[in-house]
Amino acid sequence: MIQVEHLVKRYGGTAFALDDVSFEIGEGEIVGLLGPNGAGKSTAMNILTGYLSTTSGRAVIGGVDILENPLAAKKMIGYLPEQPPVYPDMTVTEYLRFVYELKGCSFPRDRHLADVMAAVKITDVSQRLIRNLSKGYRQRVGIAQALIGDPKVIIFDEPTVGLDPKQILEIRNLIRKLGKAHTVILSTHILAEVQSVCERIIIINHGRIIANERAEDLARVIEDNTHFRYAIVGDKTAVVAGLRGVQGVKSVTPMNEREGDAACYLVEGARGTDVRRGVFRVCSERNFPILSITTVGDDLESIFIRLVDRSDKETKSR
Ligand code: ADP
Repeated sequence: MIQVEHLVKRYGGTAFALDDVSFEIGEGEIVGLLGPNGAGKSTAMNILTGYLSTTSGRAVIGGVDILENPLAAKKMIGYLPEQPPVYPDMTVTEYLRFVYELKGCSFPRDRHLADVMAAVKITDVSQRLIRNLSKGYRQRVGIAQALIGDPKVIIFDEPTVGLDPKQILEIRNLIRKLGKAHTVILSTHILAEVQSVCERIIIINHGRIIANERAEDLARVIEDNTHFRYAIVGDKTAVVAGLRGVQGVKSVTPMNEREGDAACYLVEGARGTDVRRGVFRVCSERNFPILSITTVGDDLESIFIRLVDRSDKETKSR
């Protein structure tokens, strides 16, 4: 549905806002574009939505090159910018009629707007002035304008910024629901957001893609099985001495946790080694039952920080 090929964007000067970015998004996918502030997310969104030209490379939406045929490409996209373009002095219905005209939409108007309002649950406020709506409702009106014309692709830029926790959940549920019938790109710096909504995550830093994985596969990007939490039964001093003797083990730290009659230890292995087999052998020889092993730091948050950190170091050494 979306092909982005070798996209480069420089805003004058020498810095690259996007530096050879390529990715594909299939029909019906919900993809999260994640990155720290300044990573290049808005630049990518603005190119995809036809608001910004590229320095080189191309973006194709539904087979249409966005630079060659921007009008046709734009018709396939609904966009919710970070600041929703709503007019406070209009009622919801007036505003949506205005957007309908602006988009040159050809569906039967009142029926289409009623469907859109029902989809985002704003029918009950249709006659209210937008200025009198809560921020959560205003955001729904923003989503409604993106849905007018029934675009195949919907792009959300930081859709939950400034909302309260209940509104955040509602908007995320709504995005998930829209993802059933549309291709969705969700740009955010909030990890929990992509984690709860998206099937795939593209991580961008300094204008480069540093990961493009299914959410559950991201852990494998970092081949860094170095930190483990062990619950082991046995005399603490003897266990620590035994583990410290395992080849590749850098440190063993008793933790302030227990699991039944087992004490917990944080075991750190040297980079590039996996100490689990060695630990198993020693514990088995000395009769220290291992009740559990947990990899430490393979939650998405740690992975994200480690990936960004690694890419920062690579950028500095370039
Ligand atoms: P994000 O949306 O991930 O926060 P942006 O796409 O806004 O990142 O910015 C990427 C980089 O491009 C940043 O270094 C930013 O300072 C720079 N940038 C963005 N817009 C402009 C502009 N209009 N002129 C010059 N530099 C810009």
